[in-house]
Amino acid sequence: TPLLAIETSCDDTACAILDAHGTLLGESVLSQEDHAALGGVVPELAARAHLNALPELVDLTLQRAGLTLKDIALFAATTGPGLIGGLIVGSSYAKGLAMACGKPFMGINHIEGHILTPRLPAALRPDEQAPAFPYLALLVSGGHCQCITVEDTGQYRRLGGTIDDSAGEAFDKVAKMLGLGWPGGPALEKLAREGNPQAYSLPRPLKGRPGCDFSFSGLKTAVSRHIEPYGREALPRQVAADLAASFQQAVTDVLADRITNALAIAPQVTTLVVAGGVAANTALRQRLERIAEAHKIAFLAPPLRLCTDNAAMIGWAALERLKQGEVPDDISLAPRPRWPLDERQPYQPHTPQ
Ligand code: ATP
Ligand code: FE
Repeated sequence: TPLLAIETSCDDTACAILDAHGTLLGESVLSQEDHAALGGVVPELAARAHLNALPELVDLTLQRAGLTLKDIALFAATTGPGLIGGLIVGSSYAKGLAMACGKPFMGINHIEGHILTPRLPAALRPDEQAPAFPYLALLVSGGHCQCITVEDTGQYRRLGGTIDDSAGEAFDKVAKMLGLGWPGGPALEKLAREGNPQAYSLPRPLKGRPGCDFSFSGLKTAVSRHIEPYGREALPRQVAADLAASFQQAVTDVLADRITNALAIAPQVTTLVVAGGVAANTALRQRLERIAEAHKIAFLAPPLRLCTDNAAMIGWAALERLKQGEVPDDISLAPRPRWPLDERQPYQPHTPQ
């Protein structure tokens, strides 16, 4: 009884088919490269691109799984949080398929997908075990920066989040200032390898304060002050590299400080898990791994393709929900651009225009 999942909350169109055990039978992701040229995600363009891509992407995923639509027992889609245009396109498409096939539909929270991913069989190496509850999840992506304890499927406690930019946004903005492309995270990390992380003394916002909130905008401003003196001149390569390294060190310090606080607030967790695109950052991974070691807990970071936006995580979250005895959603369920994790999405009938 396989299920098909669709993810369209940001700029990636993704589809995945999983069997009842969560084994990935087929998967495809289409990244919208146009946004790179435009220096960020343009919501209207993203929604149209999802609409164009979905029919073929679903067909391709079915082909890869060796299945046809008739074999699918349930259709799941991300219904929030995210860009509303994309959410409407993806969830409407899944609902349409569900209605056409006479099968149920389920709306899934995107964040829930990210933080349950480490339990997805495909996310584990042969020597790794799925994290037992409760575990601590650090979600660091382009749109999110949150620290959550996963007590059970459907039981999440948000310990803190960003009060301004997400970690990914900070990487992207600083990369832009340094004249690197978009998304900036990978380019900045690469440049940082040539730099000295102690070259510039940058602030560590909120470090040493109680709680698990994050802040990155002051750090970004501090970097811009070091760039200003160069005016319109191109930054010397070494200056850019030193700034990149110092910035990356500051972000890592802040995240490490906040996670250490989280582990003090939730000492019962058995595993530290990192998800989201920024989890690709090697310096950050190594730092988190050391913190976990010091606290004698396990550390897990899903492979990168499952850390960034994908549909396998949406299908997996649906499976975990079903395992808990949860029933599929009504077809009239409306997507929510903002959807706190601790709220089960209420029944929201569409209001007629
Ligand atoms: P969402 O927030 O909804 O998950 P998103 O597409 O913005 O969506 P991801 O795809 O998870 O987020 O992550 C993209 C972000 O990760 C970008 O901000 C990018 O700069 C950052 N990133 C990717 N690789 C690295 C890296 N090696 N170091 C630091 N940041 C990185
Ligand atoms: Fe995401």
